[in-house]
Amino acid sequence: MKIIKGIKISPGIAIGPIYYFERYKFPIPKTYIKSEERDNELMRLKRATSKAAGELSQLRELVLDHLDEGHARMIDAQLMALTDEEVMKEVKKVVQEERKNVMWAYFDVMTQYEKALDKTLYIYHKERYIDIRDVKKRVIHHLSAEKQYTAPDLTEPSIFVSKRISPSDIIHIHHVNAIGIITEIGGFDSHSGILARAFRIPYLSNVLEIDKIIGTEEVILDADEEKIIFNANKNVMKEYEKRARQFLISKKKSLRGQVVHESRDGLPFHIFMNAGFLSEVEAIEPSSIQGIGLFRTEYQCIESNSIPDEDDQFETYSKVIKNMNGLQVTFRTFDFGRDKFIDMLDLEMFHQDQFFDDWGGISFCLENPSLLTSQLRAFLRSSVHGPIQIMLPMVSSVDEVLKFKEILRNVQIELREEGIAFSEKIYLGAMIETKDVMQILDDLAHEVDFFSIGTNDLSLYLIGSERKSSLIKNHYHPVMFQAISKIVESAKRYQIPVNVCGEMGADPYALIGLAAIGIRAVSVSYSAVQQVAEVVGNISIREVELIADELLSADDTLEIYTMLKKFYDDNVKPGNAEVA
Ligand code: PEP
Ligand code: MG
Repeated sequence: MKIIKGIKISPGIAIGPIYYFERYKFPIPKTYIKSEERDNELMRLKRATSKAAGELSQLRELVLDHLDEGHARMIDAQLMALTDEEVMKEVKKVVQEERKNVMWAYFDVMTQYEKALDKTLYIYHKERYIDIRDVKKRVIHHLSAEKQYTAPDLTEPSIFVSKRISPSDIIHIHHVNAIGIITEIGGFDSHSGILARAFRIPYLSNVLEIDKIIGTEEVILDADEEKIIFNANKNVMKEYEKRARQFLISKKKSLRGQVVHESRDGLPFHIFMNAGFLSEVEAIEPSSIQGIGLFRTEYQCIESNSIPDEDDQFETYSKVIKNMNGLQVTFRTFDFGRDKFIDMLDLEMFHQDQFFDDWGGISFCLENPSLLTSQLRAFLRSSVHGPIQIMLPMVSSVDEVLKFKEILRNVQIELREEGIAFSEKIYLGAMIETKDVMQILDDLAHEVDFFSIGTNDLSLYLIGSERKSSLIKNHYHPVMFQAISKIVESAKRYQIPVNVCGEMGADPYALIGLAAIGIRAVSVSYSAVQQVAEVVGNISIREVELIADELLSADDTLEIYTMLKKFYDDNVKPGNAEVA
């Protein structure tokens, strides 16, 4: 029996075969063809390159619409590499004279170019090396399988194993047989982590010995105890089969009925839900929460690799609202930051592009008014079905909010002129999740109806953590509590509500700290609602407030962790808390 360790991103147990996914690696069959097959092979290459060209042209349009000409030119370079006459001539020669199959021939020719460019000292050529590699992978993919470029294909219930997993991979595999996830790289607050917890797929990352499990017939993934067991003996297997069954039962058992939304000493504490898909909303029991505190509208785009038009958006938003039976839904305008949009583009070169670091959020929507206008029209049109709020991501200046309000006013005028009904009472909120916004809290509070704290990004900006990295816990950092306390004070001064919608709110220990410094509402994944309610119901807010000063003067993460864990053990239950 062997055990390797990892770090828990999403809890649960799974037993099953491994599905190893290497996005950009395909086995190259080293087979020779018959002379009569040569034309057919070359036709296959033609089809593959034209498919790849179609994809790249689509991407080009997307990039041009939402980025700039400079980035579109990066795609032009790939289109050129794709149709390079020298390459085509050489591949043809290898197929015709050496009779290698076309995939092998193309792979060899492109690899030779790649190697030559990698050795060069010229920056221009170095950059072309990445283009050649991207193009090679794209064409080889189409030669090897005539299906969508991105989707992993699990044919039986399996544990997905890969170096990293993107949000769109999770969206695809959760519909098809994924019972667990193991990766080498992946952070707790990453969107992939958030999605795995939302879909309740056990997930362990930071597994440094992935090679050891590839080729194993069956493994036990115990995300709860952060280990992977293979070649398990009979007794261990029996024990785990029982636990895996229990996990599946608990997974199916959705939360039913009301959970308590007040503290032990009877003070109100509101629990909302984060969602990004209609299917998630359809699967829940609305009465167990007080509404949707964050609906990540951009997830629809990742799911379909495109931006839905106004009518499609209207349809989804309306269904989400109707499902909530009169409870409030907070829609966030598209937030195409970092991993989400990069993932949509699926280009390796953009993964290395620092440009994306400050990119996304409301500023992106303001730069693309037609995109924003159609989303606002869809929001407003759907508002006749129930109460909605609109929330702006990544706000960094008051000016952005003012510009947004102007666009919103114009959309309202337009709809009135068209005789289209909408609710006049829509509250507007700002997400507090950038460094700049921390300097303008009071001015901003003046302009919006509520604050929502995005701790996932805020920690990135304030303590330099990496959402995608293996640095898992940002939730107990002193700077986070100090910043959140400042936000709460500002909201109090202007008498606007404030909540936390980042993952910190779902962390049972951090939640206690948040309650101590004045947070009275969180929005978390549905899978975390029960536990949040349990923590809230077991603590006295008046008592927890007594640790606020100590918490805010602590200067060490471990000190805060220890303090919060002790409070949890004394008030909620002893032992390690389940995260999410
Ligand atoms: C956050 O940053 O905490 C947040 C809720 O937004 P997202 O995770 O979608 O970036
Ligand atoms: Mg965010």
